[in-house]
Amino acid sequence: MNEHGPINWSINGPAESGRRDPRLAELRERLAAVRLRIDGAVAAAGRQQNPPQLIVVTKFHPADDVRRLASLGIADIGENRDQEAAGKAVGLHDLGLRWHFIGQLQSNKAKSVVKYAHAVHSVDRLQLAAALAKAMAAERERTGRTPLECFIQVSLEDDADGHRGGARPADVPALAEELAGSKDLRLAGIMAVAPLGADPDAAFGQLAGISARLTAGHPEASGISAGMSQDLEAAIRFGATHLRIGSDILGPRPALG
Ligand SMILES: *Cc1c(COP(=O)(O)O)cnc(C)c1O
Repeated sequence: MNEHGPINWSINGPAESGRRDPRLAELRERLAAVRLRIDGAVAAAGRQQNPPQLIVVTKFHPADDVRRLASLGIADIGENRDQEAAGKAVGLHDLGLRWHFIGQLQSNKAKSVVKYAHAVHSVDRLQLAAALAKAMAAERERTGRTPLECFIQVSLEDDADGHRGGARPADVPALAEELAGSKDLRLAGIMAVAPLGADPDAAFGQLAGISARLTAGHPEASGISAGMSQDLEAAIRFGATHLRIGSDILGPRPALG
């Protein structure tokens, strides 16, 4: 233990503790740089009245980093593995964060995910939608929680069952009906990851078209979860409402052990 002892987050504000915690200072700086990029893209797109929401993706990074981000004003956290997310959410319960599940999800994990997740961005098949509805019905009975926000993940790969997951665009309407039909789920919109090596403008342009078709029948489902560290500017240009940014804020992810 150093001479100052452990950081007391409830007494020291971020500015005070930043002097003692270089990682906090680093996260503050990286976050500010990303916010500048977002603000620039928002202004360029004329979206100042309608800016996207920032979700910081903390997968593989320790819970202490999530705590630091919370002290910097971040309220929305993205995770892609249930076990890791569940552990962090329990340990950081006091912070009142909103947890966004953004990874491929097995149906048998639905029961666990609905215990902590505010939103699932990766609903890509009917079986998963049904499992989430069933798990949510039980969870609401137990806790009275709000409906689970659900984004339909769409694959923008040509071969349509690309390695990065997602439903084929043609399957979106049936998935939307399934999600909209559950009172415990809220159809929030669509999500996609731009294919590796592809032009993000083309990918997000395609996604904007899919969103327009979805909202024609489901006006409430206007969310577009798109944009990562590398392509957030293009995503903002094409109407992203939720950005999922990891490495440009947290730095490179530690290798999987
Ligand atoms: C990891 C991940 C992100 C964040 O990606 P970065 O390139 O680190 O910003 C966004 N979306 C999904 C689905 C992810 O798995």
